[in-house]
Amino acid sequence: MSQTTTYLAKHVKELKPSGIRRFFDLAAGMKGVISLGVGEPDFVTSWNLREAAITSLEQGYTSYTANAGLIELREEIAGYMQKQFSVSYHPESEIIVTVGASQAIDIAFRAILNPGDEVIIVEPCFVSYAPLVTMAGGVPIHVQTLKENDFKILPSQLEEVITERTKAIMLCSPNNPTGTMLNKAELEKIAELAVRHDLLVLSDEIYAELVYDEPYTSLASIEGMRERTILLNGFSKGFAMTGWRLGFVCAPEDITQGMLKIHQYAIMCASTMAQYAGLEGLKNGRENVEEMRKSYRQRRNFIVQSLNDMGLTCHNPGGAFYAFPSIESTGLTSEEFAEQLLKAEKVAVVPGNAFGGSGEGHIRCSYATSLAQLQEAMKRIKRFIENL
Ligand code: PMP
Repeated sequence: MSQTTTYLAKHVKELKPSGIRRFFDLAAGMKGVISLGVGEPDFVTSWNLREAAITSLEQGYTSYTANAGLIELREEIAGYMQKQFSVSYHPESEIIVTVGASQAIDIAFRAILNPGDEVIIVEPCFVSYAPLVTMAGGVPIHVQTLKENDFKILPSQLEEVITERTKAIMLCSPNNPTGTMLNKAELEKIAELAVRHDLLVLSDEIYAELVYDEPYTSLASIEGMRERTILLNGFSKGFAMTGWRLGFVCAPEDITQGMLKIHQYAIMCASTMAQYAGLEGLKNGRENVEEMRKSYRQRRNFIVQSLNDMGLTCHNPGGAFYAFPSIESTGLTSEEFAEQLLKAEKVAVVPGNAFGGSGEGHIRCSYATSLAQLQEAMKRIKRFIENL
């Protein structure tokens, strides 16, 4: 340990780097790798959105926007949320445009947590939730979903870990890394429990545009949930805008205004040109989203079938762009599998344990890559298993 580490805060020293990055770094140093590792669309942002950003620059819109974001954008977001998800938020007081959903999650936890407050984290899950809870002074309480239940959380599992310190539940549907989507009936059961225990729910709905079988239900649209939901969303996935860093959060006014204080001091506002691109996306981008969704659906069908055919059992993920097959039949741990597969066949996947203990025995394969690449990757994985 070098001497300067002593300057770091204890809780920061104790944070583990993300398990996803390690595999990116390993793969980046090799040639001819097919990556099923990255959690981002392979599409370039649609031209009309890029052009809107360019035009905003040409017109000299280079200053800060309102802290909560351009009011035109918040109005479009309000209209979009109403039309697409049947939830209603006031653009002036209940929506903040953020630097990706990532920042939205951060300000949400920081706004609601007192030291020692517990947040139930449903695993396996996106890597940032638990560290962000810790950094906000809270305590993450992990609940492990099971492959037998297609990684759907059961209300009884939540019930078991609720204490008087529980402040919130962190939910993500469709989920990263499992692709599992909770339908209306399942969400209603969780809602009933949240109301009964007076809990907040952070609902990460970043993959809401990418669902393939059942209609999508936003948690906030369920009776009694609007006032206890912090709804997190963004442009990264549905609009293929990861690099623009544009997201948003919708919540009841008091909570939104609390989050806005943090956002105001820490960030000021999201990037102005990104906001103009997002505005164009909501106004004129629906067709492109639909095209991308169809393409992902076709790839999902292919990859899930292929993985099952080669003996890596995999539930059918209802949304997002991840397949999460079991690799238990190989006798390898998820890290061994990912590392050996990368070395032997140059296919990068993410070991399931990067998303929490319940991810062990699985790998995450992102299918946000071309069908041709997926076909080649499946051939290589099959060969890898046969040669074990
Ligand atoms: N939530 C989930 C479930 C994600 O998978 C991701 C990105 N991988 C994010 C949030 C963060 O997205 P953004 O780019 O909007 O910060």
